[in-house]
Amino acid sequence: MAKLNENFSKLKKNYLFVEISKRIKAYSESHPEEAKRLIRMGIGDVTRPLAPAVVDAMKKAADEMGVKETFRGYDDLGVGYDFLRNAISDYYKSFGAEVSADEIRVSDGAKSDCGNIVDIFGAGNTVLVTDPAYPVYVDSNIMNGNEVIFADSTEENGFAAMPDSNIKADLIYLCSPNNPTGSVYNKAQLKEWVDYALANNAVIIYDAAYEAFITEADIPRSIYCVEGAKKCAIEICSLSKTAGFTGTRCGYTVVPNELIQKDIAGNDVKLADIWQRRQGSKFNGVSYPVQRAAEAVFSPEGQKQCRENIAYYQENARVIAATCDKLGIKYTGGVNSPYIWLKCPNGMGSWDFFDKLLTEIQVVGTPGAGFGKNGDGWFRLTAFGTHEATKEAMERLENLLK
Ligand SMILES: *Cc1c(COP(=O)(O)O)cnc(C)c1O
Repeated sequence: MAKLNENFSKLKKNYLFVEISKRIKAYSESHPEEAKRLIRMGIGDVTRPLAPAVVDAMKKAADEMGVKETFRGYDDLGVGYDFLRNAISDYYKSFGAEVSADEIRVSDGAKSDCGNIVDIFGAGNTVLVTDPAYPVYVDSNIMNGNEVIFADSTEENGFAAMPDSNIKADLIYLCSPNNPTGSVYNKAQLKEWVDYALANNAVIIYDAAYEAFITEADIPRSIYCVEGAKKCAIEICSLSKTAGFTGTRCGYTVVPNELIQKDIAGNDVKLADIWQRRQGSKFNGVSYPVQRAAEAVFSPEGQKQCRENIAYYQENARVIAATCDKLGIKYTGGVNSPYIWLKCPNGMGSWDFFDKLLTEIQVVGTPGAGFGKNGDGWFRLTAFGTHEATKEAMERLENLLK
């Protein structure tokens, strides 16, 4: 008999988005007319098409694949072509972080690397995750049999959990700009986390999937903008939100050469080496046309076009935030993030507020309770819709709550 990984039974049911769909379906069936007005502001997926420079590069690469002289098979070590790794390294330089091309591994997205990175760490680590958080950090650790403890992100700390010197964590997951709360760490706060990690010989897994949404000049775009981070942090990034690659699939992970931990025998181990070993065994790289498309994201033309799409979403975020301001609703995010994380009015619970918006104004958001216990009473709206739908939804919200 095949023995199963019993850790799967310890996972929380994939409750959030299933429950949301269930409630929308039930409402749509009982109220077919009203359901035609439904505006979805719940899902964290982009809607703007790929930039023309990106599409051109992908087409050109597809043509190359059909010609004997320019056809390409495996991407050698599966780490990503030099043209793309150099482009990413230059991108880091543009916001003041020194990351060399050989520290970068191209991936098929941040979710897989966030999950797979767990493989290079052993059993018995104290894993610290902020609450609320992107569910992948907890789930991937539970699947590997690890226990997870939480650092509270709350209204009091602006949904930016800080280290507690009484807790000795070995692995720490941070996400800034944050999904779901839209909050960001400033340089001083990130420095506290880096100092804490260095003092405890801990490793930070830093999810920077939303770095391109940062608008304030003093907010770090990378953890490597902070001194000492290269000795303690792995950074995982993605083109999904930066350049609309959710369906195209490309990301990158930085494991710095200076990131060294001791094995049980006391020998120094470069984490980059064991991550390379893990990926070498289980991953064969990203398709050539997608890597060319990704390279185009970092070209001057690609950057200009991708920035225009981000600006489009940022305008939506501004409209949502302005509505909350008008209604006196507390929120975080919206400035350096496509998410607005708002406090449900009149002390309502997340799911009650969800039902109220669904049934009274046909607007769908995401109940904060689905991201952790500190999310209850909070609600996430995304700026990834169209201007028209976002404005319409905010007008309805204003009429409902004013
Ligand atoms: C969307 C998102 C990602 C990106 O995942 P991909 O697999 O690259 O599409 C990573 N982390 C967070 C927090 C996200 O919201």
